[in-house]
This record gives sequence, C-alpha cells and structure tokens, in this order.
Amino acid sequence: SVREAGGDSIVSLSKTTHKALNRKAVIEKRLLLALDQKNLKVLYQPQLDLKTGNITAVEALVRWEDEEIGVVAPDELIPIAEETGLINRIGSFMLERACEQAVEWRNAGINLKVSINSSVREFRDKNMAKSILDTLAKTNCPPSLLQIEITEKFALEAEAETSIIKQMRQLENEGITFALDDFGTGYASFRYMQLLPIEILKIDQTFISSLLQSEKTQRLIDGMVKFGKSMNLTVLAEGVEIEEQKDLLKSYGCDSIQGYYISRPVEPKEIEYMYSGK
Ligand code: C2E
Ligand code: MG
Ligand code: MG
Ligand code: MG
Repeated sequence: SVREAGGDSIVSLSKTTHKALNRKAVIEKRLLLALDQKNLKVLYQPQLDLKTGNITAVEALVRWEDEEIGVVAPDELIPIAEETGLINRIGSFMLERACEQAVEWRNAGINLKVSINSSVREFRDKNMAKSILDTLAKTNCPPSLLQIEITEKFALEAEAETSIIKQMRQLENEGITFALDDFGTGYASFRYMQLLPIEILKIDQTFISSLLQSEKTQRLIDGMVKFGKSMNLTVLAEGVEIEEQKDLLKSYGCDSIQGYYISRPVEPKEIEYMYSGK
C-alpha cells in the first residue's frame, strides 16, 4: 500500500495523487482476475488497400469492461499493464486470439492478415520469438497472416538491444511482417529504419486529423509518404475519418488507410459482412 511504500510520506501525498495510485492498484488487481478468467475482448479494425479497395488486414485492439470498475480504455490500461508487467499476459492473450481468428477466417475463405500491437517490454523476454512461433504452430496459423505493430519508442529502445533485433529478424525470416505504429510522433531516429525489419509505416492519426486544415501538414504527410515509398515500405494512414482525407492521401500515393471512414473497431462478424459485402 501507499503507507508501506512511502512511510510517513503519505501525509504529503495530495488527494489526487492518492486517488491515482489507488485506481492503479485497483486496475492491477482487477486486470489480474480478468486475465485469469480470459475476460478481455478483442475488436478488429479493417485496413483498406486504396488501389484495390479491398480490406487486406485488420488490427486487433484490446477491450476490457470490468464488472466493478467498468470500461478501462486502452490508453489507460496499456501504460499500467506495461508498468506492472501484465502487458506480457495481455500480449499472449491477444496473440492467441488473433491467430485463432486469422485461421478461422482463412478456413472460411476470408483472406485477412491480423495485426497485433506489441510493447517493447514483451520483446525483452528472450523467449518472445519462440513463444510467438509456438502460438502460431499451436493454432495452425501461417506466419504470413500475422503482423506485429511496434511503436517508435519500441524501435528506439530496440536499437540498443541486440537481442530484440535478433528476435525481430528471426520472426521476419519466418514470414511475419512488422509495422511501425504512430509514425512521426515519437523520437525521430532514422537509424532504426536501417536496423529493424519494418515493412509498413503507419502515419499517426494526429497528422491526418489536421490534414485538411493545414497546408504545412499536407506537405509534411506528402513527404512522409514519399519517404516511406523510397524506403520500399507500405504506407498506411491511421485515423482517416472522412472522404476528403482519403482522396488527398490517395493523391500522395499512400497505399492504405485505417479509420472511422472505413469502420470503427468491430466484432469479427461485422468484419465478415464488410469483407463479403464489397
Ligand atoms: P493504435 O495502435 O495506434 O490504435 C489505433 C487507435 O486509434 C485505436 O484506439 C482506435 O480505436 C483508434 N482509431 C482508429 N480509427 C480512428 C479514427 O478514425 N479516429 C479516431 N479518433 N480514432 C481512431 P484504441 O483501441 O483506444 O487503442 C489505443 C492504443 O492502445 C493503440 O493505439 C495501441 O497503442 C494501444 N493498444 C490497444 N490494444 C493494444 C494491445 O492489445 N496491446 C498493446 N500493447 N497496445 C494496445
Ligand atoms: Mg496499432
Ligand atoms: Mg497508431
Ligand atoms: Mg495510437
């Protein structure tokens, strides 16, 4: 508890700090239970190829509604899970679900890659690559159906840790693809572009949301797309909400888009309707 950790200092903690610590402790406790009972859910958001108009992949996003504390959004959940180490368990849960889903779809003639989000902490585990490959084998999922999204923060830290790079390359050799998420928001270091086996650039939604208002942003995104293409990467724009954004992005040569314009994150069934309905 706070008292044990801080001794007498509890009296100096402001009420809000105390409340925040308390919420974190409650989330940790409830999350442990949810993981044991597999009470987390996965929603899928489609990624659309602008050339063909086909949905080619879906991103798996964690959802959690707890009986006692209600909905805990990923933006609150993930940082706490990273801090407490529970992210590794969320990661394996998401991976297994994603693989099962990809196989179920493939067996139904639906050809979709499933993309999962990964934290650098998961790759600090020296057995990460092996456990991913084990899960693929266990679920009968071809590696080519799995995509792994890492953030710029992940990339920056991985740069200094050879065992992470090694594991990523091992997975790449097996046919798994890596995407760089939230591109442009983090710590711009072009060195990791040389070191890491990244195939997809996901331009962060904050750029897309100001695309139509700012000529500067337009030139910036145009440049980001050209940079990605010159590196032989697939460039995807996140957070596309309206048609005009899609049209501009297409004119820049952007390969694919994800966002509310196509669909919010949804249940697998709805992905199937979209896939067969086009
Ligand atoms: P992300 O990986 O960049 O995922 C995209 C986020 O943007 C999702 O939020 C999605 O619902 C939201 N989004 C998609 N299209 C639009 C749009 O058109 N407009 C707006 N305003 N938002 C859009 P979500 O699901 O709340 O997830 C937030 C972040 O939490 C994710 O950002 C990712 O970094 C993290 N996250 C989610 N699930 C997992 C997970 O299973 N593992 C890990 N490590 N991180 C996860
Ligand atoms: Mg992502
Ligand atoms: Mg993102
Ligand atoms: Mg994000």
